Amino acid sequence: MASQFEQLHFLLIPLFSQSHIIPLTDFAKLLARQGPIVSIITTPLNAKRYKKSLSDYALRANLKIQLLPIPFPGQECGLPEGCENMDSLPSPGLARPFFDACTLLQEPIQNVAQKLEPKPSCIISSGAFTWTQNLAQNLGIPRYIFHTGSCFTLSCFDMLSKSKVHESVASDLDTFYLPDMPHKIECTRSQLPDFMTKNSLELKAIVDHMKEVDSLARGTLVNSFEELEPWYVAQHKKANKNFWCIGPVALANEEMEDKFRRGNETSIDKQKFCLKWLDSKEPGSVIYACFGSMCHLSCMQLAEIGLGLESSGRPFIWIIRESDYSPDVDRWLKDNKFEERVKGLVIRGWAPQVLILSHPSVGGFLTHCGWNSIMEGICSGVPMITWPMFSEQFFNEMVVVNISSSGVKIGVSTAMKFAEELNELVKREKIKAAIDQLMDDGEEGQEMRKRARKLGEMATKSIEDGGSSHMNITLLIRDVMQQND
Ligand code: UDP
Repeated sequence: MASQFEQLHFLLIPLFSQSHIIPLTDFAKLLARQGPIVSIITTPLNAKRYKKSLSDYALRANLKIQLLPIPFPGQECGLPEGCENMDSLPSPGLARPFFDACTLLQEPIQNVAQKLEPKPSCIISSGAFTWTQNLAQNLGIPRYIFHTGSCFTLSCFDMLSKSKVHESVASDLDTFYLPDMPHKIECTRSQLPDFMTKNSLELKAIVDHMKEVDSLARGTLVNSFEELEPWYVAQHKKANKNFWCIGPVALANEEMEDKFRRGNETSIDKQKFCLKWLDSKEPGSVIYACFGSMCHLSCMQLAEIGLGLESSGRPFIWIIRESDYSPDVDRWLKDNKFEERVKGLVIRGWAPQVLILSHPSVGGFLTHCGWNSIMEGICSGVPMITWPMFSEQFFNEMVVVNISSSGVKIGVSTAMKFAEELNELVKREKIKAAIDQLMDDGEEGQEMRKRARKLGEMATKSIEDGGSSHMNITLLIRDVMQQND
């Protein structure tokens, strides 16, 4: 079958953020394994971050994947030098100029794409890059949207925008049920993403434009798997025949080296700190706490997290983002002799998340509910403590707690604004209580762990030959082939 697909050339254009580049790069690996050539559009600084690990992978697996860096016109739009990824935006106010700079890439990418051999057969891009629809039209090829969230979230967007039930409650904290769904799930307006609640004409225009452009795409790919959320998948398939779950894409990384070098370079030594330390712990005993690549936590909140992890009495790995690692945080850790007295490991900066999660010593994942992290937690078969912060992360919490019953809530009620600090301090007692509940040895805890393990097995099967996601990738490739006949 592979030979039939070898002349196809997929052009992938991820939004320049970790939560898009990482899954689309993983997806490139899954795609290329079935035969096609894959080129990933990026910028010079992003290429630096991902090039070595991707080229090593491609060489080892004998796959045709390449990165195509295009100079980023950030400074033309008022961005500081060196800012080519959303994780390096100095302030949330610069998100707009960042997207403006991305839009300016349409023409240079078109020029590059026209010279590619073989000619690109399709574009797969992030939904936020609406200009890639025009690009595809100019190149005379179909475009597919790569959705980095769940099918459940897509259903929530659809059903809330139709029913507007969230507009009928009196206050932001009044609860309502998500409409027309088989799961009875409570929600409040304060948990919804900004674009659903803010009364802003500018935001409304952006959302309307995205919807209009979405309808022109040839199909939609979702980093999920059918067995996780079957009812929601079926709803979307009914509405759109080219709707395919193709994940969990993180499972493209089977070798330890690929799990270790994913996203940024990490400061830790794989053998010494990570594996030796994990190897020395009991199976299923370690709590892994990480809050993604975008959330900002104050020094006060970080201190509560540290003390909560410590008071759980369990071994832990705690990641503090580089940009949150302020002099105050450094002082707090040192003054309290935190690292000397606790059973845990503190990692500053970037952690090899997929490698850590896949270690048998890890027994629980305290997560901010970014969808990639949720999928990676599911793949590793560990139950999760959900601490959603912004965007669609409260919907992701519902997938874990209400739909798959494989985690517990930490219990936050309000979303923060994009890339701003949390306004609701979660105290150490709450963190300890959630860890105790998750790691509980009673019947409930054991049942939850069993469900999480089962889900991990189903995720793995979906990517294997003959699995649902593997077959969906084949269907996508066939569709592209037909469109290029
Ligand atoms: N990630 C990682 N190491 C870190 C922080 C994040 O490998 O120290 C990866 C994580 O595995 C995931 C991605 O970065 O693939 C974060 O995406 P997610 O959707 O979970 O959250 P976001 O960063 O968008 O908030």
